[in-house]
Amino acid sequence: MKKQIAAWKDEITAWRHDIHKHPELAFEEHRTADLVAAKLESFGLDVHRGLGKTGVVGTLRAGDSERAIALRADMDALPIQENNDSEYRSVNQNKLHACGHDGHTAMLLGAAKYLSHTRNFDGKVHFIFQPAEEAAGGGRVMIEDGLFEQFPVDSIYGMHNWPGLAVGKFGVRTGAMMASFDTFDIEITGIGAHAAMPHTGIDPVMVAGQLIGALQTILSRNADPIDASVISVTQMEAGDAYNVIPEKAVLRGCTRALNADTRCMIERRVKQTASSLCKAFGAQCKVDYANGYPVLVNTAAETDHAVAVASQLVGSDNVNPNHEPTMGSEDFAFMLEQRPGCYIFIGNGDAEGTCMVHNSGYDFNDDVIVTGVSYWCSLAQSLLRM
Ligand SMILES: [Zn+2]
Ligand SMILES: [Zn+2]
Repeated sequence: MKKQIAAWKDEITAWRHDIHKHPELAFEEHRTADLVAAKLESFGLDVHRGLGKTGVVGTLRAGDSERAIALRADMDALPIQENNDSEYRSVNQNKLHACGHDGHTAMLLGAAKYLSHTRNFDGKVHFIFQPAEEAAGGGRVMIEDGLFEQFPVDSIYGMHNWPGLAVGKFGVRTGAMMASFDTFDIEITGIGAHAAMPHTGIDPVMVAGQLIGALQTILSRNADPIDASVISVTQMEAGDAYNVIPEKAVLRGCTRALNADTRCMIERRVKQTASSLCKAFGAQCKVDYANGYPVLVNTAAETDHAVAVASQLVGSDNVNPNHEPTMGSEDFAFMLEQRPGCYIFIGNGDAEGTCMVHNSGYDFNDDVIVTGVSYWCSLAQSLLRM
């Protein structure tokens, strides 16, 4: 298998470079979706479009088993100006495949090509190409549009490149592997005043300052120290003069947790802390708390299976089944809430100065392609063994 896939490396790499050169942001992946659909059709798959606006699902059947699995890739880019000078660098101003979704899409297309060629399995494989993984929840929208009703599956699998992990290695873990992600807007309304006469008003800037510190006590005093979580206040807005106490101050930020109960506790305590503290100082408080992505939880049996497949491919020394969780978040968590499955990291390289995802100098490593495609194909063939 690996030999055949290696023979297609240049072709799959050319798809990757084409996608890289023409990056598209969340729910605008029209060109990318056209490219994906055309390739899937050319491999003889049934292609369905329109779930999650620009989402594409390709279905490949072999044999007559009712078993079905889904393999998923993401297609969207980020609003970053590229700082690389490859001949396939982005031609779209301020858009860049800085998370490697160009590589993910190309690798899943490579797997569709190989599996359609060999049909060495018994059942159905749904190839899901989702839009808007970066913060806009394209996976969630595909589910709301009926993804799993139209394409019922026994289990679902995802893969992400991971800078800092050597090429040819995999990292994964059972249970929580990536954090939940929620955002908050806290509007504090006081009473404006002359800055020389603070006693005639209620100062929302002072309340905001107290609140920034108070929010951190949620993690240090309410959350179990063994259980990782983060609250970051990332924006503050108030006032526009040296000598005026403004009427309003606004704080914004995000929270992360690796445990669903901790996530709920943080939401409850952010709201309580903000409203109680504002009340203590006589200010009004309005909190908008938005749930973003859930905790990404890999199920045990499917993760064991993924580890076995990856180990067979690259050797068990190169597969870490206890990879550290990350406080980053991932849209695939919504799919794992619906079906059992596993999300795995594939090494994107660990050379000195390796660029992390979401940086202007990041580029997916094409040396990952053969391993990534082989993993997808081995996984499908072993889950749907004849
Ligand atoms: Zn990303
Ligand atoms: Zn990503």
